[in-house]
Amino acid sequence: MLREHPLSNNSKLLPQPYVGRFAPSPSGPLHFGSLVCALASFLHARQANGTWLVRIEDIDTPRVDTSTIPIILDSLLAHGMQWDAQPIYQSQRCEHYQHIINTLADKLEVYACKCSRKNIRARSEHYDQHCRDLNLPFKNYAVRWKNNIQRTRFCDLHYGMLDISNHVVKEDPVLKRADGVYNYLLAVVADDLEQQVTHVVRGADLIDTTPLQISFFEALHAISPAYMHIPLAVDMHGQKLSKQQCAPALDSHQAIHNLKNALVFLGLPAATHSKIDNVDTLLNWAIEHWQPQLMGLQTEILVSQTNGVYCTKN
Ligand code: GLU
Ligand code: ZN
Repeated sequence: MLREHPLSNNSKLLPQPYVGRFAPSPSGPLHFGSLVCALASFLHARQANGTWLVRIEDIDTPRVDTSTIPIILDSLLAHGMQWDAQPIYQSQRCEHYQHIINTLADKLEVYACKCSRKNIRARSEHYDQHCRDLNLPFKNYAVRWKNNIQRTRFCDLHYGMLDISNHVVKEDPVLKRADGVYNYLLAVVADDLEQQVTHVVRGADLIDTTPLQISFFEALHAISPAYMHIPLAVDMHGQKLSKQQCAPALDSHQAIHNLKNALVFLGLPAATHSKIDNVDTLLNWAIEHWQPQLMGLQTEILVSQTNGVYCTKN
């Protein structure tokens, strides 16, 4: 792929090597749902002889539990997934996010918004660009991006062309909240750009936000990475596995079992029948056999738990 790094002054197009990443939000230890995402992004990157990065998305402060960060990293290593560069932390990149807002402000592409959620809901179902032309001062107000691109579709590497009907892709998104917290859209795009990520492999719950992310790359005059979403692991109530849903933390002593179950989930059931009992050997086998098409086109897969270990329910 030829791609120019937008932050470089060099206008020559350089060949872009594969860079993938796993970007956990540290709201709890890794569970089966996060393992399948980590594993899919890892296998896809390794099969392409690419770089695989880890980024800690610790920007959403109320949900973040920093004590889980070393647990997440240890758990990745115990499951044989070694990253190729020092992980970056979103909490340490606020200056950079502000710099992007300032650049957009210079071009009048962002504006201050004074509306509370209640105000917005009272007027309309969606944000109605109420403050776009009010020229409010930025201090103490939220910052919104003028989304004139309003992209609604993208071509997913696994699901193909997807049209997103969720109105969120057409709204002027908040980049920074009134309380000063930078929003996920800004952070994820800024970081994928900074880390020169070429391929994002992640859970299908993020499909709906993808066109907006691509639009925002365009706003920054950058080319977005390619996106591949993978089915979401859900419990019998149809809920995504999460700390809030009490999904148990992965037990590193069961790494081989966890990985084999995750490989079944990802469409590689042969691994379960194999006698492989070493994590690195199993991952090497999986890198060789990884084929995203084997996952099927459903966006959710039901998993159930026995003795704290999740596996795909047939
Ligand atoms: N931090 C997000 C999560 O844990 C993942 C975001 C992404 O992969 O783009 O759900
Ligand atoms: Zn407003």
